[in-house]
Amino acid sequence: MSEEPSEEIDTTHAHSARVYDFILGGKDNYPVDEDAARALVRAWPRLPVSMRINRATMHRMVRWLAAEAGVRQFLDIGTGIPTSPTPHEIAQSVDPTSRVVYVDNDPIVLARARALLTSTPEGRTAYLDADMRNPSAVLDSAELRTTLDLSRPVGVTVIAMLQFVEDAASLMAGLARGLPAGSYVALTTATADITPDEVTAMAEEYTRRGTPMFLRSRDEVARLMTGAGLTLLEPGVVPMHRWHPEMGPAIVKGRADSSEEPAIVDTDVNMYAAMGRIP
Ligand code: SAH
Repeated sequence: MSEEPSEEIDTTHAHSARVYDFILGGKDNYPVDEDAARALVRAWPRLPVSMRINRATMHRMVRWLAAEAGVRQFLDIGTGIPTSPTPHEIAQSVDPTSRVVYVDNDPIVLARARALLTSTPEGRTAYLDADMRNPSAVLDSAELRTTLDLSRPVGVTVIAMLQFVEDAASLMAGLARGLPAGSYVALTTATADITPDEVTAMAEEYTRRGTPMFLRSRDEVARLMTGAGLTLLEPGVVPMHRWHPEMGPAIVKGRADSSEEPAIVDTDVNMYAAMGRIP
């Protein structure tokens, strides 16, 4: 990092937003994050590829919500360090009046939140520093309600975040309870279903370094949706590169390569993608 860390920023343990940033080639990370990232990649060498596939999946999900489902207001939880294109850049490229509220609880994301506030003049963006394990506090907050109209459908994106939450079912249920009918929840979350030994070893490594990681089976991910009262939309819970590939590229460019990626196979990903709708 070019600046001295502020007092709130913990440089003694790896933080998921910063580990992610290191792997995607960003500068908002510390030696402890780089060490963790290298250990995770030793455990599961496809992690950097999977993270780039995750970003592209977020792009497709936001584009689908805006272009296919007609959503004009969004709530992105577990935003991470801003990486372009951000959800509001994608949503506002479909309709510049789109509004987006971002939520994260890591001080490094707060320190970089200015980059999330570059709305079009017609639209609006806001950033909330809050813990999503208390969804009603976020949904009831004055900051959220001055930006989003909760009498109209919202598209919520929960991208690469739920694997860091133990009681994901409560988070999803609380979220769904506070959202109007016709709202959507898009998620990607980690699983050991595809490459069990390596991804389990990676999650253990992350947990040992202070970031507990909770892997979930396909059925568990489906139940996170249905248990919260959401209808699971097509194509269901799928390895994330298989979620609506027609909506855009399967992977974003890496820092080292500008060459074409070979075709992506299931063993390149450790996350499921799913989209649910509140009936
Ligand atoms: N969504 C981004 C970043 C994922 S990294 C992307 O996919 O590129 C996971 C993010 O979730 C981190 O920024 C972390 O700080 C955030 N996070 C984890 N638990 C959280 C919680 N309980 N409340 C809010 N944010 C949380």
